[in-house]
Amino acid sequence: MGRVIAIANQKGGVGKTTTAVNLAACMAAAEKMTLLIDLDPQGNATQGLGIDKNSLEASVYDFLINDTPASEIMCETEWDNLYIMPANRDLVGAEVELVDVEGREYRLKNQLEALLDEFDYIFIDCPPSLSILTLNGLVAADGILVTLQCEYYALEGLSELLQTVILVRDNLNPNLSVFGVLLTMYQHTNLCKQVIDDVRGHLGESVFQTIIPRNVTLSEAPSFGKPVIYYDLKSAGAQSYLSLAREVIARG
Ligand code: ATP
Ligand code: MG
Repeated sequence: MGRVIAIANQKGGVGKTTTAVNLAACMAAAEKMTLLIDLDPQGNATQGLGIDKNSLEASVYDFLINDTPASEIMCETEWDNLYIMPANRDLVGAEVELVDVEGREYRLKNQLEALLDEFDYIFIDCPPSLSILTLNGLVAADGILVTLQCEYYALEGLSELLQTVILVRDNLNPNLSVFGVLLTMYQHTNLCKQVIDDVRGHLGESVFQTIIPRNVTLSEAPSFGKPVIYYDLKSAGAQSYLSLAREVIARG
């Protein structure tokens, strides 16, 4: 049975999508059958894997709302073992339409069940909110990977996020655990070092040893529709995500 990991933080721009795309690509390169689910109407993960979000015949929206089978939505990528369930603006509608659907938090989980045997890892790129979409991600997942940007306000909002994890675990999904906390956009400054100490002090072992540096290659690769390992393997960004993938595999 595959692992399902939701990459989440309600804070915007903290490296969720960059992590989702690049971790998924590294896992696939390690011969793990990998599916990335884009659960964000921004469609950044979709674009990041080279799929045009504006010309989708079906998307995660149809998966959640119309019970369209996964086989009609999943796209192959250019790379072996790597598949994407793409999203675009349509997904905004799902937020509204799910409001009075019974079992609305379980839509993604129920739909995914049939895919668990096909994949070793399913990553879910959540939007920057604690919306019904993110809730669907957390209910479908067995672990949450939280990305924290190395900045002064890194921990801001984290207690609210962890409170949500506890609520989900108590009420909707007893299997949910914190799979790991990843520090992103590290720069060699005293502030960053202080943030790392602080985060490790608060969160201990759950924090990955791998820290993702601020690296321009990571921000360039998406405009070519490529994960960083296929854009510039030698870059610090690519090497850091390969290192993260090794840690993820080691965590099981
Ligand atoms: P949102 O909350 O909007 O979904 P996000 O948490 O998914 O954002 P990303 O889209 O991954 O965050 O990153 C935000 C911006 O920072 C993007 O332009 C991305 O290319 C850039 N970025 C992310 N990680 C790095 C990094 N390690 N080095 C340099 N740029 C980065
Ligand atoms: Mg994102």
